[in-house]
Amino acid sequence: MVHASKERTLVIIKPDGVQRSLVGEIIQRFERVGLKLVGVKFGVPEESRIEEHYTLDPEWKRRVGERAIASYTKKGEKPPSNDPIAIGDSVVERLKKYMSSGPAVVMAWQGAHSVELVRKLVGGTEPRSSDVGTIRGDFVLDSYAMSDSDGRAIRNLIHASGSVEEATQELALWFSEKELVDYRLLQEGILYDVNLDGILE
Ligand code: GDP
Ligand code: MG
Repeated sequence: MVHASKERTLVIIKPDGVQRSLVGEIIQRFERVGLKLVGVKFGVPEESRIEEHYTLDPEWKRRVGERAIASYTKKGEKPPSNDPIAIGDSVVERLKKYMSSGPAVVMAWQGAHSVELVRKLVGGTEPRSSDVGTIRGDFVLDSYAMSDSDGRAIRNLIHASGSVEEATQELALWFSEKELVDYRLLQEGILYDVNLDGILE
């Protein structure tokens, strides 16, 4: 069985994160919890890659559409369409525009429970309600209400894989195997060694 410390996740600092000069701050949050950077690239994502990214899970568009319809209905508003897929399509179109609007940082992070830990540090999808102390809660203020009425994607600084399965697919989409580096970080001794017998002289 693969050791828990080998779990990997995909993180993208979206173009607004780069424009807000938050690259260092965001990387520091993952470093300080003990995660290890194993892959990184910087550039303007292509729209076709973004489309692929958000359609790796064929059910994702429908889920997003259904959630959006439910939230319009809850507010007593009429959704722009009653077809979840049509809403999902328009979300993907907006995400393509947003994610390819400037350079982004695409990273692979490794460590025990990395998928879950990174999601915890990143916070909920809508910055308006994401917890204080999380990246989205601390550094940005966007809402579905504002982004929907302005016809654009919500600006939430960062993408992080939502499950181990999603991480595996997303890492394969953004990185070749060669681009992910297997190496030892000295601090991993204190995080993972079973016996801690290499400290005392
Ligand atoms: P994340 O994993 O926290 O980024 O959230 P999701 O994977 O559910 O959604 C990815 C992206 O799709 C978000 O960052 C939003 O831009 C968009 N999105 C998700 N859910 C909704 C929604 O209910 N309404 C709208 N307008 N956009 C959404
Ligand atoms: Mg997601």
